[in-house]
Amino acid sequence: MDFEYAPAPESRSVVDIRPSYGLFVDGEFTEGHGEPFKTIDPSNEEPLAEIASADASDVDRAVAAARRAHEKVWGPMPGRERAKYLYRIARIIQERSRELAVLESIDNGKPIRESRDVDVPLVAAHFFYYAGWADKLGHAGFGANPRPLGVAGQVIPWNFPLMMLAWKIAPALATGNTVVLKPAETTPLTALLFAEICQQAELPNGVVNIVTGAGGTGRLLVGHDGIDKVAFTGSTEVGKEIARAVAGTRKRLTLELGGKAANIVFDDAPLDQAVEGIVNAIFFNQGHVCCAGSRLLVQESVADELLDRLKRRMATLRVGDPLDKNTDIGAINSAEQLAKIRELADSGESEGAERWSPACELPQRGFWFAPTVFTGVAQSHRIAREEIFGPVLSTLTFRTPDEAIEKANNTPYGLSAGVWTEKGSRILWAAERLRAGVVWANTFNKFDPASPFGGYKESGFGREGGRHGLEAYLDV
Ligand code: NAD
Repeated sequence: MDFEYAPAPESRSVVDIRPSYGLFVDGEFTEGHGEPFKTIDPSNEEPLAEIASADASDVDRAVAAARRAHEKVWGPMPGRERAKYLYRIARIIQERSRELAVLESIDNGKPIRESRDVDVPLVAAHFFYYAGWADKLGHAGFGANPRPLGVAGQVIPWNFPLMMLAWKIAPALATGNTVVLKPAETTPLTALLFAEICQQAELPNGVVNIVTGAGGTGRLLVGHDGIDKVAFTGSTEVGKEIARAVAGTRKRLTLELGGKAANIVFDDAPLDQAVEGIVNAIFFNQGHVCCAGSRLLVQESVADELLDRLKRRMATLRVGDPLDKNTDIGAINSAEQLAKIRELADSGESEGAERWSPACELPQRGFWFAPTVFTGVAQSHRIAREEIFGPVLSTLTFRTPDEAIEKANNTPYGLSAGVWTEKGSRILWAAERLRAGVVWANTFNKFDPASPFGGYKESGFGREGGRHGLEAYLDV
């Protein structure tokens, strides 16, 4: 007998969303001189707050504040002192974790279970981890006394707003750089709450500056003469534009871009475990994950059985209110992203693949897309080649291990991959041949601050996380 789930809503009362927000420059909230914009709750399309937009003069002010802070305070400060601030920020993130998780789910649409159990704990862990490096940089393998670069201009996307902020800010600060960060226009709220946390931690003014705005503000920031480094996470298209803008300047650049990861299931894999891994690989965070396992490659002899079990499991996924603790799949982040997912899924059908979704009732208002699997997908189909960035899985089959590797590597991207097999030797064999920055074995979407993350080919270059992540912010 099946029991119905009762609603289990997380309370919104823990967050205090102001009607409007300014920019965070030189330790204070100030007005922006661009056209303000609204951020909305994607689960019901209700406006949440009005957000300032930074124009060229605002970006100038933020960069100047970061430069002053770098030269006068943060650069000369001993690593052990910088570490204390990073530890303090990490502890405040833990103390305010419920508030951060609820706000992230409201602004982004992701399930509270994920923001509470994955995003926010990883954000705190990232600050703790890099706090530990701040006074040990001479032992990181980059020379006895590695120097910071100066001022970093950082631009991040909307899929993991706080986590991407932590991946950018924690290593930059640990190495003695100061930052100007631009969050994505659809998810600025947790970055602005992080600005309050910097105030609470009494971080010296100008060390962290947050400028909100759309792509135009990002362009002003990465093109600014006063920055020494650009760190960008986002789409490959914008990444290419930034690479062109930075070429020929003295600025250093790291790019974390898109992906189209293969998740390979061999015939000896434990199938139930693989099904859980496939669900986690593509439906975690509504599939808005650069390293999502969006191409399932399954060995022909087990394909029918695996797909039967996968569909049965997909029928149990609960789509709905991001703040309900039982929700597995929340809202799509924006109308624009929903249109993109719909267009690509429709192309899958018109190009001849077979589409399947479980029966599921989607809320009337807001942006929603049912979990979807395509079978009979050919390598030439758009859904096998292009990043969908939504809860849509494309399934292809293979007969031999060599064919699996060839199909997995047949993509312009190279961010991540997954391998499901009982044999350790096969894992190592596959990992050596897969052109991907991360290869997960019998698991997927596992993150740790000590583990470097980054891509090959059009997925970008440079690594974030771990000892490797320090290099991007050091003059080596
Ligand atoms: P996007 O490239 O449209 O936007 C990312 C950020 O760049 C936003 O803050 C945006 O305002 C800004 N921006 C837009 N145009 C700009 C320009 N010309 N100059 C400077 N900044 C500009 O990407 P998105 O839709 O927000 O995010 C989704 C993409 O991010 C996906 O392709 C995904 O794979 C990728 N992503 C990659 C990683 C990774 O680590 N590799 C992580 C998360 C997301």
